[in-house]
Amino acid sequence: MNLVLLGPPGAGKGTQAKVLSREFKFLHVSTGDMLREALKEGKEVGRRAKTYMDKGELVPDDIVIDIVIERISQEDAKKGFLLDGFPRNERQANQLDESLARVGKKVEMVLYFKTSSEVSIARLSGRRVCQACRANFHVKNMPPKKSGICDYCGGKLIQRNDDKEKTVKNRLVVYEKETESLIGYYKEKDILQEVSGDLDVDNLFEVIKVLLQKEGLK
Ligand code: AMP
Repeated sequence: MNLVLLGPPGAGKGTQAKVLSREFKFLHVSTGDMLREALKEGKEVGRRAKTYMDKGELVPDDIVIDIVIERISQEDAKKGFLLDGFPRNERQANQLDESLARVGKKVEMVLYFKTSSEVSIARLSGRRVCQACRANFHVKNMPPKKSGICDYCGGKLIQRNDDKEKTVKNRLVVYEKETESLIGYYKEKDILQEVSGDLDVDNLFEVIKVLLQKEGLK
């Protein structure tokens, strides 16, 4: 099954994507992670993206569309993929639909994480990320055993540049301006399932699991 996770920054899409891809063997495709990885590897596309990311703006469509289409065309995406952070506007959604249609595929379900802005802001401002293995923590909701140190690999935990207060506000504005209209786009296609992004990780996972099991996934 091919899924899209839709919702504001801080809705918990990345966290759910990780657990869902483990449980249901989806390929997890996160455009934010791919862009950060490209930057870490010193790639030109990463450097181009950074200027936008640091301001909380969307990276130009041509950059993200190409990397997503390329990734989901690979062998390991055949059994199904889970898009986290893509599409973020109607142009991206259209291009995704067109590219999938060319190979006889489509987006089959969109999980819309409806989330209050207080929850989003609290999640983003408390988020800490491992510099080495990218595991996520939260200073209150999911603290590491040792402050500032990753439980899994011992790497240093940092705050993403774009999780700082000013950028967070802009990311939420950009979401409302560019991305929110996709709720209607997918509702019209009758593939939108709304879930509450305000739930904690385990409870939301249970809700989504039931939805996917109803679709016959195990
Ligand atoms: P995320 O990790 O999904 O919060 O994304 C972090 C940043 O990467 C965003 O604020 C954008 O600057 C950029 N980005 C990620 N996905 C996209 C996308 N589909 N379109 C444009 N920019 C994106």
